[in-house]
Amino acid sequence: MLAHPMLAHPLLAHLRFPVEASRGRRYPEPNHPYRSVFQRDRDRVIHSRAFRRLENKTQVFAPELSDHFRNRLTHTLEVSQVARTVAGVLGLNEDFTEALALVHDIGHPPFAHAGEDALNTEMQRYGGTFNHNTHALRIVETLEQRYPRFPGLNLTFELREGMVKHSRDFAPGEFPELAEYLPGFRPPLEAQLIDLADEIAYNTADLDDAYEAGLVQPAQIAASVPAWAEILDTVETQYPGASEREQFQESVRQLIDDLVSGLIEGTIAAARASGANDFEAVRSHPVRLACFSSEALGTSRELKAFLFRNVYSTAALDEDRRNSIARLKQLFETLVARGDTPRTVCDFIAGMTDRYFLRYYESLSLPPAQS
Ligand code: MG
Repeated sequence: MLAHPMLAHPLLAHLRFPVEASRGRRYPEPNHPYRSVFQRDRDRVIHSRAFRRLENKTQVFAPELSDHFRNRLTHTLEVSQVARTVAGVLGLNEDFTEALALVHDIGHPPFAHAGEDALNTEMQRYGGTFNHNTHALRIVETLEQRYPRFPGLNLTFELREGMVKHSRDFAPGEFPELAEYLPGFRPPLEAQLIDLADEIAYNTADLDDAYEAGLVQPAQIAASVPAWAEILDTVETQYPGASEREQFQESVRQLIDDLVSGLIEGTIAAARASGANDFEAVRSHPVRLACFSSEALGTSRELKAFLFRNVYSTAALDEDRRNSIARLKQLFETLVARGDTPRTVCDFIAGMTDRYFLRYYESLSLPPAQS
């Protein structure tokens, strides 16, 4: 088989973040004889406790219904796979991309977004906030304690910058506590890819898990997402004897492929139009260069809207969400009333897996939570 021409001439290799340009670690360390700084970052993330806990944190669907749903760990692996593919085709730094993808959800509390919202609401009552990106930074800077020479994981500046800019960039003065992370500048292209790889991974995985849960049907998706309708039509013609499940899965596979190709094409077009000629120019460009083609952007938005209407806001998930919020609020208040500071309680709860939360909650024999 012939290699795709894009692989022979990686199109954005000139924008690759060179490993030797890293600003290094907070606590200087000698170089490793055969692993680059980003390979070491990746390995430290994989060996952290917070990473292993992702296995027991809900992504969208609680595990009681099926053993096949994504959890936050398998979601993270899917993001890493998508992001590495894109980085490889574009000629970007794959090690850097992989490390960023593996760390991107490390700050998530138990019970998915319900958990994050509930912790934020509780912290706001005490003049604080909770956000999974800044919590992730606390984990890798201080909460993980495994190395005798430094607190946290002592990750490179670029990993930490990518984490705080995962969802958005920020202006000078906007977050004084993040002043060291180059406010007003874009993160390297490798870091820009993660948010979009995340979007591809969760939209397609949530569709798949929702089908597994019996919440959505292939034809119902087709009525809201034209790109899906086209794919499904082709798959049904190509594999008329296949089961509905096989046709569904083949369509999801094709949808992922189309979105990934759209991300590659959109990013190449934006990078060319920008005239950026190296990683420094990526940083100082006024907007991010990683983006979908207009077609893939439309499909991604339609998918998101479909999932909101037919999955995230349904009664089954809503009841789960309200229960989780009520219990989390009750546990938070109980621990603060016993004299712990809100931040200590917040760190404690945010670090819990879903399973540990429920075990701990039950061990306190609290009255039923009011949702
Ligand atoms: Mg994610």
